Amino acid sequence: MGPMTAPTPRRVLLAAPRGYCAGVDRAVIAVEKALEQYGSPVYVRHEIVHNKYVVQTLEKKGAIFVEETAEVPEGSIVMFSAHGVAPTVHQEAAERKLATIDATCPLVTKVHKEAVRFAQQDFDILLIGHEGHEEVIGTSGEAPDHITLVDGPEDVTNVEVRDPSRVVWLSQTTLSVDETMETVGALKEKFPLLVSPPSDDICYATQNRQTAVKQMGADADLVIVVGSKNSSNSVRLVEVALGAGAGDAHLVDFADEIDEAWLEGVSTVGVTSGASVPEVLVDGVLEWLSRRGFEDVEIVKAAEESITFSLPKELRRDLRAEAAELVEGK
Ligand code: SF4
Repeated sequence: MGPMTAPTPRRVLLAAPRGYCAGVDRAVIAVEKALEQYGSPVYVRHEIVHNKYVVQTLEKKGAIFVEETAEVPEGSIVMFSAHGVAPTVHQEAAERKLATIDATCPLVTKVHKEAVRFAQQDFDILLIGHEGHEEVIGTSGEAPDHITLVDGPEDVTNVEVRDPSRVVWLSQTTLSVDETMETVGALKEKFPLLVSPPSDDICYATQNRQTAVKQMGADADLVIVVGSKNSSNSVRLVEVALGAGAGDAHLVDFADEIDEAWLEGVSTVGVTSGASVPEVLVDGVLEWLSRRGFEDVEIVKAAEESITFSLPKELRRDLRAEAAELVEGK
């Protein structure tokens, strides 16, 4: 830098709220408590939450992550992840004589119950969500004959229903609010009598994190979202940042994934994190930035959050004894 050049002012805009939501907090504590109470191994079907660091940390403490219930030895304890499971998964677990702990987020359970209720009333349910996402697989499993997946606005032309006067839409909890409304708009044009869910399916945490990143987007030359690539709500934050006018936006699991080249010509960096991300990872990013002159941190606050959920009730029982009884066939 020549002597005549003034240093570029550098600052960080830090989104609030960011990071852990109530459902993730509950699920992670549930695994820790299960390990404390029942000892290792506790099996967990699928990543308890979609975050690499969280999964690695729990593995070190004795949790064993599996893809399918069939991989869990008979008579063991298995936990279901925050994303929820289809009823068939509960049946499989019962057949294998497993003691189960259900860490499904109560806000996902709410969508499951809506699906069951509308299916009982013989509605066709248009579930807006991402194909192959665990939550969508779980919700669809509640009423497979009634649910059709709609993966974004461009999918609407393909949707067919039995009776256009009995159609409702529901959604995955972690979608982009704006894109979902676009999909709903297109569905309403096609099915004017489309019924809306009784309350928002996109959860408060997803909405608040998107609102905060929208507020900072236009002022940021670069937005860094801390989160894993399989975390739906984290990926959405990158899209929302770009949509709100951020110069650039990237998703990183850890600070060491940040590329120095992203900082070229950048004076304002926005930082946020997905709902499955522990704060220690954000601290790592803030430290990384501060070592490069981004020491000035301003909070961009979009909402207050105070919601918490009580732990899964199964943690109050003696599951080792229950599993042993199941195996003995008592
Ligand atoms: S993102 Fe929302 S639905 Fe998912 S675990 Fe968190 S609070 Fe529950």
